[in-house]
Amino acid sequence: MSIANNLLKYKNEIEALNVKLVAVSKNHSADAVMEAYNAGQRVFGENLVQEMVDKQVNLPADIKWHLIGHLQSNKVKYIAPFVKLIESVDSLKLLKEINKQAEKHQRIIDCLLQINIADEETKFGLDFDEAIELLRSEEFSAFKNIRIIGLMGIATNNASEKQTKAEFNELKVLFDGLKLSFFRDQDYFKEISMGMSSDYKIAIEEGSTMVRIGSSIFGKRIIKHWKLQQNEN
Ligand SMILES: *Cc1c(COP(=O)(O)O)cnc(C)c1O
Repeated sequence: MSIANNLLKYKNEIEALNVKLVAVSKNHSADAVMEAYNAGQRVFGENLVQEMVDKQVNLPADIKWHLIGHLQSNKVKYIAPFVKLIESVDSLKLLKEINKQAEKHQRIIDCLLQINIADEETKFGLDFDEAIELLRSEEFSAFKNIRIIGLMGIATNNASEKQTKAEFNELKVLFDGLKLSFFRDQDYFKEISMGMSSDYKIAIEEGSTMVRIGSSIFGKRIIKHWKLQQNEN
């Protein structure tokens, strides 16, 4: 199946359930992005700042870029002018820098707090307590150029369906709790980004509003450096 066919299959299936599709184009060429774009996709996810910036300057301006990978504070400045959503906020320090760079560009940058729901130590993200502490902090309440519109989580790799379901449920329960405690009157706090190629169906059953699908649309990510791949085409 072509990228366009894959895209349409997932887009139709997912949007019919009122869930948003983020097409994860990391490691794939700008041509691959264009193929999905021409099939109607506008929201794309990247996990590396450099790769996102390179693609953004070469591709249509109406693409909505989501940063889904770990973000270092010193790199926020490169994406601050255009990024649509930073899904992977995992510290107050990072949020502070996003707020600062957003202010420079006179914009408000939407963010998700990435919550660590997996039982792997290597996964980035805030624990429940850390998320609550962040939202309670005085520093957070002073940020005027960021908006937290929800949460993001990645389930444990290759876990049983039962465990995956439980992890997504934890994220949904946390979301509901934070909504009541901190965002009761903020209609914009409404997104739960969870689910990838292997587990998006379970995620949607558990309340996902946004799924991030890469390999099922674009194929396997074989080559690490997307530029090498692009040069081969
Ligand atoms: C790569 C990635 C995805 C997409 O994964 P697939 O299994 O290719 O669908 C989703 N979310 C994050 C955070 C990723 O890094």
